[in-house]
Amino acid sequence: MSGTAVKLAIESSAVPKPKLRVLLVEDNSLDAELVIRALRKNSFDVEAVMIVQDEDSFIEALGTHSPEVVLADYNLPNWKGMEALTILRRQNLDIPMILVSGALGDVLAVECIRQGATDYVLKDGLARLPEVVRRALQEKYERSLRHQAEKDLAKKADELARSNADLEQFAYVASHDLQEPLRMVASYTQLLSERYRGKLDENADKFIGYASEGALRMQVLIQDLLAFSRVGRANATCTNVDCKSLMEEVRKSLASAIQESGAVITETNLPSVWTDRTQMSQVLQNLIGNAIKFRGKKLPIISIRAEKTGEHWLFSVTDNGIGISSEFAENIFVVFQRLHARTEYPGNGIGLAICKKIIERGGGKIWVESQAGSGSTFKFTIPFQSANGGKT
Ligand code: ADP
Repeated sequence: MSGTAVKLAIESSAVPKPKLRVLLVEDNSLDAELVIRALRKNSFDVEAVMIVQDEDSFIEALGTHSPEVVLADYNLPNWKGMEALTILRRQNLDIPMILVSGALGDVLAVECIRQGATDYVLKDGLARLPEVVRRALQEKYERSLRHQAEKDLAKKADELARSNADLEQFAYVASHDLQEPLRMVASYTQLLSERYRGKLDENADKFIGYASEGALRMQVLIQDLLAFSRVGRANATCTNVDCKSLMEEVRKSLASAIQESGAVITETNLPSVWTDRTQMSQVLQNLIGNAIKFRGKKLPIISIRAEKTGEHWLFSVTDNGIGISSEFAENIFVVFQRLHARTEYPGNGIGLAICKKIIERGGGKIWVESQAGSGSTFKFTIPFQSANGGKT
């Protein structure tokens, strides 16, 4: 221990009080005594006190004494109490530092707190000291709980991201590698059905038919799954996308469904947004395609609009179709979740899952507002962002 550090032995009190290890930065031994007395009076069991007056002994005491609180005089002959704070920061130590000073004007006191001192107490008002220390320790405890909770949360988020990535990798590899053997099954059942139809018995024809139908359906499902996992694999290439011109392409892709259903599609206020053109087209195509597919008896009227809200563009696709009961509003965005038999409405239940993945990867959200029988409005957001990452 350096010559300027003094260790005081403190007798323990009869009443159990919270134990406290104090590091005191003080040159006046009488003041030090008064400070310790103020702490011990009905408040703390001051286990050990280390008194230092300069930088070297302060650093040494941090290592040997492990204080829970630093009480520092503002002015010392060879040092400044506030420099203790710089050392605590440098060593990454979250130890409350309270200034205990003979005279500290309000302006200076506020400045010290602004720089990171926890609080200050005047030497002629030491009766306040126990309460100030108690509060500082309580705040430190709450800070440590918060840090721990943040660390736990970050760890959980990390684990979740890793397991999502693993799952995505699995879905990709599985769907990719299943394609080849499935192609064999599909082609040979097809061959069986072509060569042997009518040559075996009636049941054989039926069984071969089921097998080849099942194989073809599985091929479509696997292709959909592959399309879903590809959304996450390819990096989105964002550009400024003019949604009005994009809608012309979407209308072309859906031309036969639009024509066949007689759907009337209106567009309002469609902006240019910073996004991946192909993915945005896929989202609009899926939502408008569904609005046409899940039409009721009425002629489909579909409106696409956008408006600025806070930090996002809010898009909505509204139809006058069969609607969705609110209990299924979230399920329908999950892979392969559908509300109808394929014979009623064709599809595999992958379209909305792809939309969700695209929108969420772009930092937005997607949801539906609907009631069974009275049409649906699908809404999604796209954050404002320009090529250089700034706001548009
Ligand atoms: P798919 O269209 O292949 O069934 P989606 O993932 O696109 O798959 O949609 C999932 C389910 O959500 C649909 O099966 C349907 O039940 C419901 N749905 C989607 N869009 C609409 C809509 N516009 N109106 C009513 N129901 C819808």
